[in-house]
Amino acid sequence: MSEIIYLNGEFVAYEDAKIHIEDRGNVYADGIYEVIRFYNGKPLELIPHLQRLVRSAASIRLETPPISELVPAALECVKQNITGDGTVYIQVTRGVAPRKHPFPKDVPSTIFMIAREVSRPDAEQVAQGVACITVPDIRWQRCDIKSIALLANVLAKQQAIEADAYEAIFVRDGAVTEGSSSNVWAVRNGEIWTHPADWRILGGITRDCILRLAQQEGLTVHQEPVLAAELATADEIFITSTSTEVMPVITLDGKPVGAGRPGPATLCIWQAYDAMVRGAAQ
Ligand code: PMP
Repeated sequence: MSEIIYLNGEFVAYEDAKIHIEDRGNVYADGIYEVIRFYNGKPLELIPHLQRLVRSAASIRLETPPISELVPAALECVKQNITGDGTVYIQVTRGVAPRKHPFPKDVPSTIFMIAREVSRPDAEQVAQGVACITVPDIRWQRCDIKSIALLANVLAKQQAIEADAYEAIFVRDGAVTEGSSSNVWAVRNGEIWTHPADWRILGGITRDCILRLAQQEGLTVHQEPVLAAELATADEIFITSTSTEVMPVITLDGKPVGAGRPGPATLCIWQAYDAMVRGAAQ
């Protein structure tokens, strides 16, 4: 059965979901997006994700439908396409107009949603942990906006894949910022560090969940930058995102992290997150 796409207020077959060649998302990456998890067909943190979508849009002076319209659209899109675990991708761009830099006048935004089955991360991979590399953070100065302009992230991820690694971790001015599609956490002496949610990182919705869960588990979190040199000698590292959930990092730039296996703080956070996901899926 063909996928059903939400496009500008209508549900259409995948083959019929067409966007004009001069959509500003296409020619300028003039748009923002969101990825939301569904477990057993039920959303996790739907409203925080949609609030971030609206916030990203407002940051680039882009109109979006109100959250009261986005909620039923996202839920319906998911219902039409997913029964189990999956994600919905939502993209909003500054619409279709002849290619000129200034904002076009009186042009409606383009919005679409794709809901697709995506399994939870492989349990064996989580148990084993993954490799990461560090790369220079060559991105712009508004990484807090969930912009569809992801070229630096794409190049970084590809570099990681070609180094047989799972994720590339960005370093700006000697400090670790985040992954190409994840937030990064370091553990030392049982305490956790992660970059503050400023312009240098995307404030992950998963990151917000982890901050809450860490507190619940009695783990101390410092929202302070970690130097790349400090990351290299951390006891534990893990990365988090909507799709990846909580993933232990066991090598960094080819060298073992701590004991070279997922550590106790990481596993505690992973278990708490897993329990939250199972609760959401009920
Ligand atoms: N940083 C970047 C650059 C990302 O692309 C993502 C994933 N969207 C994250 C962090 C994690 O954000 P979230 O937990 O909201 O998925």
